[in-house]
Order: sequence, then structure tokens, then C-alpha cells
Amino acid sequence: AAPAGTVPAHGPAADAPLLPVVGAGLTVPLVTGATVPYAQLDTAASTPALAAVAARVAEVLPLYASVHRGAGYLSQVSTALYESARDRIAAFVGARDSDVCVVTRNTTDALAVLAGCVPAGAGVLVLDAEHHADLLPWQRRGDATVLATPATAAETLARLRAELGAERYALLAVTGASNVTGEALPLAEVVALAHQSGTRVVVDGAQLVPHRRFSLADSGADWVAFSGHKLYAPFGAGALVGRRDWLDAGPAYLAGGGAVAEVTAAGARWLAAPHRHEGGSPNVLGAVALATACDALGALPDGALDAHERALRERLVAGLAGLPGVRVLRIWPDSGEPTGVVGFTVEGADPGLLAAYLSAEHGIGLRDGRFCAHPLLARLGVPGGALRASVGVGTTAADVDRLLAGLAAYLADGP
Ligand code: PLP
Repeated sequence: AAPAGTVPAHGPAADAPLLPVVGAGLTVPLVTGATVPYAQLDTAASTPALAAVAARVAEVLPLYASVHRGAGYLSQVSTALYESARDRIAAFVGARDSDVCVVTRNTTDALAVLAGCVPAGAGVLVLDAEHHADLLPWQRRGDATVLATPATAAETLARLRAELGAERYALLAVTGASNVTGEALPLAEVVALAHQSGTRVVVDGAQLVPHRRFSLADSGADWVAFSGHKLYAPFGAGALVGRRDWLDAGPAYLAGGGAVAEVTAAGARWLAAPHRHEGGSPNVLGAVALATACDALGALPDGALDAHERALRERLVAGLAGLPGVRVLRIWPDSGEPTGVVGFTVEGADPGLLAAYLSAEHGIGLRDGRFCAHPLLARLGVPGGALRASVGVGTTAADVDRLLAGLAAYLADGP
């Protein structure tokens, strides 16, 4: 390891943002009184909006009106904007013609929509490596089996195979990429295993679809859930995309206007999905923003997103490897290449204090804590929490180097 206080050689460069994001020139004050550019290394929590998204939101802001229910010109425009956004969001995740796209608030909301529609009888299978959003809705149904995640991907697949062979499950809920390590099980293999046992698969795509090309049709997965605010659009819109039958049959997610065909004093006749689960006035601007982000990411040349984020991750991981006492967290060291999410610990350092130091003294934003993944952090042997740096299309090598220099300075002073 390099001595503390120096920054070792890194991996390849990603010298410029891949796509322009808003807030790129933001500067922040340090405790010293100096002002520095902000290094946003917390994209796994929320990404900054793309400049194209901000421009589109400004364009449509004067146009929004109530959708589906108004005869006026603006209502017609808004309805067209909303339904076109729905189609583009579905296309971005490779939806099949028969799939449906429910516009939700975020991933948590999307998974809760599905949790309300899983037929009773056979239960839900889930690993303990999941974000709470992909754990609690299943636990709350009361028919979830939470499998302990073995320490390699190969053993995890074997355990899933054994469990799916031994018990009948309606649904397997699986992460598309961990919000703690960026790792994933081989999805096509997981889907094939589940389908052999008649089990459907929902992918928590919150950390996957903003960072890797994903296709429902190609992967064979039955549903994917994701959030706009992790995909370069503002808060408040997400999606559940996938098979229609359970969503048509399940109870409406929110009982209210827009979800019904006919209401009498005796009760309601509910619409089919997606409207069945979109009670109340929908988030037209959010859907347009999310669709615009989907279009922009979808228009990137093949491999460009992977190459940008891989360069940043390699640079970060190589730099961390040169710092004493730093451990990069891995769930499945034998899994494929992780996304640009790097969970790590620094020996002897309290994650919260170190994150506060990096913010106050270096203008670096990253995440500390347990990342809404308490069972996973316990299994990784860090029940008290860790740090997490994460990159995206707006991140540059300079941001990564700032973090490495900040950590080196901290270690030089002694934790
Ligand atoms: N799943 C994963 C893997 C996540 O990282 C997150 C958010 O951090 C979620 C689900 C929940 O996303 P949201 O808070 O947007 O609902």
C-alpha cells in the first residue's frame, strides 16, 4: 500500500461528464472559509438532473393540466405528454408489447404496487441482500421467505436453485444491482431458475437501469421497478413495468378518481392497469422528466455508459486499494463487474464522522450509514455502517481524485 498522504496511481480516465447535468458548477463552502467545487459522489442516493431534463421540464411547465378528464386544449396536450412518457419509459426497459407501465412515485412505491397484486397462496422468495424497499413489502405480506445470502454468487445460485426446487413460490424479488456494492447475480440465470419452477421474477432496478442497459424482453424478467430521481430526473416519479395479468387482477393501489370506470353508492368497477393503480391526479411533469432522461440515456452509443462508469469505478477502487485500512465491501466477489457503487470502510474510522469530515473539509458528498440494507450490512460484518461513493454520467475523474485525496489527508492525520 502507498503511504498515507499520497494518492496512488489510478485506473483509466473519465475526464469529462458523459452527459451534461445541472448543478455541475456548484461550489460549496468549507469550514476553513474557502469555497470549492462540490464533488457529488452520492448518485446512488439521487442523481442530479440532466440538463436536457431540466430544459424539457421548463418547456412543459406552462402546459400541464389534468389528464384524461379534460376536454380543453391543455388537458389534451397533457394527456398526450403523459401517455407518450409512459410508452418511452416502458421502451427504455425493453418492455414486451403485452407489458404494462404503471407510473409510480419511486421504486418503493412500484414494489408496493406489485406486492398488493401477488396472488395469495404461493409465497414470495427474497434474499437478505436487498434494499429495504425490496424486502419490507414482501415481509409485510406475511408470506415471504428471506434466504440468507451465501458469500459467493455460485453458492447463492445453488441455494436459490435448491429453494425454488423444494418449495413453490409465486415470486422471486431480486436486486438488479446492490445499492451497497453495485454487484448483481447473473440475472438471466436467476430468471431461468425461477421460471423452471413456475416462479415469476421482479427486478429491483433502482441501481441497475440508470447504469446498465436493461431489457425485460431480453432478460426474461417479469417486472422491473425503478426511480426517476436515481435516473437523472427530479423526485416524484418512478415506474413498475412488466406483466399485466396480476396488475389487472389485483386491488387498486390507491382508491380514487382516475382508477375507476364506474362508481355507484354500492361500489366501484375498477379500470385495468395501469390506470387501476394510478388513482388521483398523476405526476405529468415527473413522468415527462423521467421519459426525457430515459430517452437521453437510451440514445447514448452502445457501451458508452459502461465505459464511463467503469473507468471511474476502476480509478476509485485502485485508489482505495492504495490507502491503508480501507476495505471495499463485496457481497459476491465472484459476480461480474459491479456498477459504479463502491461501499467501503476505513479501519478505526467512524463512517459518520469521516463523511462529515470529507464534506466539511473537502466539499465531497457521499453517503454513510447502513444504506437501507440492515440485514446485508450485518452479513458483511459491518452492522455499524460503512461509507459509499457512487458515480454517474455527470461524475469525472477529478471528483474521484478529490475523494482519494481527502481520504489520504484524513489518514495522514490519523483517524
Ligand atoms: N432499491 C434500491 C436498490 C435502492 O438503492 C433504493 C434507494 O436507495 C430503492 C430501492 C428505493 O428507492 P426510492 O427511495 O426511490 O423508492
